[in-house]
Amino acid sequence: MQEKHWEKCLSLIKDKVNDQQYKTWFKPIELVEISSSTISLRVPSRFFYEWLEEHYLELIDESIKKVIGKNLKIEYVVSELKAHSKKSEIRNSPQKEIINETKFDNLNKNYRFKNFIPGKCNSVARAAGKRISKNPGDNPFNPLMIYGGVGLGKTHLIQSIGNKISKDNQKSVYYVTSEKFANQFIDSLRENKLKDFTKFYINVDCLIIDDVQFFKGKEKTQEVFFHIFNQLNLNNKQIILSADNSPLSLDGLEQRLISRFKSGLTVELEKPDYDTRLNILKAKIKNENIKISEEIVNYIAIQVDTNIRELEGVLISLLAHATITKKNIDLDLAKSIISKIVKDTNREINIAYIQEVVSKFFNISIDDMKDKARKKEIVIARQVAMYFSKDFTNNSLKSIGFHFGGRDHSTVIHAVQSVNDMIDTDNIFRKNVEEIKKRISI
Ligand code: ADP
Ligand code: MG
Repeated sequence: MQEKHWEKCLSLIKDKVNDQQYKTWFKPIELVEISSSTISLRVPSRFFYEWLEEHYLELIDESIKKVIGKNLKIEYVVSELKAHSKKSEIRNSPQKEIINETKFDNLNKNYRFKNFIPGKCNSVARAAGKRISKNPGDNPFNPLMIYGGVGLGKTHLIQSIGNKISKDNQKSVYYVTSEKFANQFIDSLRENKLKDFTKFYINVDCLIIDDVQFFKGKEKTQEVFFHIFNQLNLNNKQIILSADNSPLSLDGLEQRLISRFKSGLTVELEKPDYDTRLNILKAKIKNENIKISEEIVNYIAIQVDTNIRELEGVLISLLAHATITKKNIDLDLAKSIISKIVKDTNREINIAYIQEVVSKFFNISIDDMKDKARKKEIVIARQVAMYFSKDFTNNSLKSIGFHFGGRDHSTVIHAVQSVNDMIDTDNIFRKNVEEIKKRISI
């Protein structure tokens, strides 16, 4: 009954705040009890409750009044964070006493390793993440710095690590964007709560800071973060960071901070390669239960090579259009949506694209195509890709050779001749070349 009341309050609150605020400031609250005059709530820290009081008191009051029908006095039970204290302490400690225990996290539960599709582009970062989630804090990868461009999976990966740590360990994990951290810091200064602010942070077991590039130019924030970082580090707490660029290229950040960032492991999340794009698409399609032909999935995977967010965007739009218009997802629809979402609409056919289509067709890797390998099927694939590079692009023979592992122009001439010869003499080969041509030009 009491729980029901509190749930109702929460659902009223949820409508009034954004998702992130809700997850950060309301999800961690636990109801202790509701009596005739008071409601008692358990919160993870003093800082947390002061934050609630300052920012959300009215909102909480208002929703309690709506649900219960009258104002209640709000009492907070503060659970200070201590990593290894035992559950029994909770029972033994008198209510409202400021001690102990409960671990908490503010993570998005949808970001998991199990839906983070592995691929060449993320293998090192993913492995490092899995590794540190086994022994958070106590490993050589501390801090772990994941960097890469937008939409490549940084937030997904660092939250997955946090979720795994939170699930498998008695540890508190706190996720925050650098922007939010900076805002909290400024507020805490204004309200004279700097001590609580730092206390909160140096007490978490695993701190995840997303997009540290936004610390740029914020000197005071960097200073306080430097202090928190050192404290956590000293106590073997795990720190996980993300940035849109390698630490070497993070300008506007203090050198001493950058050197701290580099003191553990720095890994890049790279742009997704074709196979990973295909696997991600397939996984999402399966998950959403979408009906979509293999041909179109391949087409999307080839065309949308920018980042994973755009890949998802195309899929969601396709699904939405197909649902609204009650039409099947066909190639025309896919084309028109891709041209709306992905910036370069009329994709220029370039050598990299041709290499991708051809290597996919012959089921070999692009690296092999550029490499010295002399295996017959690789040589043929390489020659076909050179042939189409000559046919479809304006690159000089020299430039084409350069894109295939630095070969010279005579190799390209020879490739074009051999492909022409084979087209004349080998029917199956000719059909294959036609099929590849079709794929390149859609
Ligand atoms: P970033 O933080 O680097 O900008 P996100 O983590 O927000 O990128 O990822 C963008 C979207 O792509 C998210 O919806 C995320 O779930 C998805 N995504 C990224 N990488 C993968 C992956 N390896 N497998 C499945 N989904 C992914
Ligand atoms: Mg992100």
